[in-house]
Amino acid sequence: MIAACEPEALQDMAKVAAPSQTKQRIMLAGSLAALLIAGGLVWYSFGGETPLRQANERVFMCAETGKTFFHELESGEIEPIYSPHSKQNTGWIAEPCYWTNDGRAKKEPTWVIERRRMGLEGKTYCPDCGREVVGHNPRPPKELMDAAE
Ligand SMILES: [Zn+2]
Repeated sequence: MIAACEPEALQDMAKVAAPSQTKQRIMLAGSLAALLIAGGLVWYSFGGETPLRQANERVFMCAETGKTFFHELESGEIEPIYSPHSKQNTGWIAEPCYWTNDGRAKKEPTWVIERRRMGLEGKTYCPDCGREVVGHNPRPPKELMDAAE
């Protein structure tokens, strides 16, 4: 008891205490880093491109320029929507045609705006293969899609 109150003994205790304080600091730094990483992951999953968000996006085609762009249709939004290409409301939902003109399938579709969608009469034909394009245009059979280039 008496020995513990001597200055030398206190110094020894300080020496013992020092490493554990350092250890606590390291642990604190470690948990801060973990928090930052967790925060980063949360930011990434909410702010980044998630599969869900891509699923809501649709391909639109600008009727003025014939160029396509991605857009997520919000509720209450009606076509034609604003097209970044024409800078006017000339954007329509486009239908993909995966046929080639020699009857095979392709991986990169030709995008076509269905005439009926724009309030026009008559059937819609793909400018590339000449096949009729309808709403929710069906893909070629699976075996053709598997062999598609
Ligand atoms: Zn086609």
